[in-house]
Amino acid sequence: MTTFDYAPALESRTIVTIDPQYGHFINGSFTKGSNHFASINPSDETVLSHIALGSAQDIDTAVDAARVAYESVWSKLSGKERGKYLYRIARILQERAREFAVLESLDNGKPIRESRDVDVPLAAAHFFYHAGWADKLDYAGMGNSPRPHGVAGQIIPWNFPILMLSWKIAPALAAGNTVVLKPAETTSLTALLFAQVCQQAELPAGVVNIVTGDGSTGAALVEHPGIDKIAFTGSTEVGKAIARAIAPTKKKATLELGGKAANIVFEDAPIDETVEGIVNGIFFNQGHVCCAGSRLLLQEDVAEEVLSKLKVRMAKIRVGDPLDKNTDLGAINSSEQLLKIRDLSKSGDDEGAERWSPPCAVPEKGFWFPPTIFTGVTQAHRIAREEIFGPVLSVLTFRTPQEAIEKANNTPYGLSAGIWSEKGSRILWAAGQLKAGVIWANTFNKFDPASPFGGYKESGWGREGGRHGLTAYLKDAESNNE
Ligand code: ADP
Repeated sequence: MTTFDYAPALESRTIVTIDPQYGHFINGSFTKGSNHFASINPSDETVLSHIALGSAQDIDTAVDAARVAYESVWSKLSGKERGKYLYRIARILQERAREFAVLESLDNGKPIRESRDVDVPLAAAHFFYHAGWADKLDYAGMGNSPRPHGVAGQIIPWNFPILMLSWKIAPALAAGNTVVLKPAETTSLTALLFAQVCQQAELPAGVVNIVTGDGSTGAALVEHPGIDKIAFTGSTEVGKAIARAIAPTKKKATLELGGKAANIVFEDAPIDETVEGIVNGIFFNQGHVCCAGSRLLLQEDVAEEVLSKLKVRMAKIRVGDPLDKNTDLGAINSSEQLLKIRDLSKSGDDEGAERWSPPCAVPEKGFWFPPTIFTGVTQAHRIAREEIFGPVLSVLTFRTPQEAIEKANNTPYGLSAGIWSEKGSRILWAAGQLKAGVIWANTFNKFDPASPFGGYKESGWGREGGRHGLTAYLKDAESNNE
């Protein structure tokens, strides 16, 4: 039998200009920055640029700039005028979409198909959505003349760099706050390109400030007395440290933390669609997704059929160059993350689960992990309890719907869950029992700026997106505000 292979379909990187070195974006212009560190392309380990390590002094300068911009300009503008800037930013993001997508794939390792079709369009959509809110805050049942907090400190992770930036900056600005944002240390480049977009949109200086750096920079931002509100997305461990740091202060916080979502397949589920949903749930963005469907719960009657179809489907996943338009699974974002995935996977082997990956050649350079499933997993295994943040699926089985719910909720997290069933009544019943902030039925990993996102238990505090997310950036909108 003749088999055909895909020819490479590489997206050109010429649209992107990367400077050899970047400073911070403070008060409308770029500083020189200091203590630069290399930012590498995770798919081939080449150095893309050098990023400044923000000090407490840099944070202080940025917070001052944000305060002055808040008091002298931004808080004085009407919602309608603020909305115009947000619309302008949204349109520029659309105009420069290809540039953002290519840069994101180079810096993060995610497939161009995803950065092009998901991350960048959704980032623009968040600005459009919140632009529409800016002049309607007084009429949305959020209290009498809701007011902004002032200066927001925002810290984002590396899995969706430009998208997480837009989740944070768009509602903050729409509500009338100014911002100091710190991107993750391995993925600062699209945030720095966004700083150029702020200049292009002629956003008043100091309304958005971007200070790059690592955890120490983030901690300096959290601890700065001039910050009124913290918005953080990242690990539960750091989220807890932030909660401790701000407990004695008046700072408000939203924390979007880890997850270990159950994706539950009932015996009446449409199997082919379900298999697509399972693949999307765990292999989208290399599994670097806090709401990833990393625990698959299969009803025993259909477990064998689902698993055999899933294996056939997984063998078709194309792993490789993130800039190739045919690539499904790109590079792991960093060597540290690759080590974590390897370590947790090894614990799966050691604790007696059975590992399976399709035959798949990965490039020699760079950080790679094949799509992997573990069967024979029990609730006690580390791979069933800890967030793996990689393309690794743990498979468990259940007999009764009640058992599925008990297993699904048996986790310190509660960010998301998936339900696969043809029965509407069963879906509604299960959704009512699951302790998860976001529940998808017969689909997975669907995002929309109008839909609030957030978790129960150790998955975090508060919601982002939609009207709920907006209230976190407004004083009178939250009952616990002064
Ligand atoms: P991950 O495990 O996904 O890398 P982290 O929680 O370590 O998640 O990182 C998410 C973001 O939080 C990054 O921007 C990182 O630099 C920042 N960060 C790390 N440690 C701290 C800290 N102690 N205080 C504030 N921010 C931090």
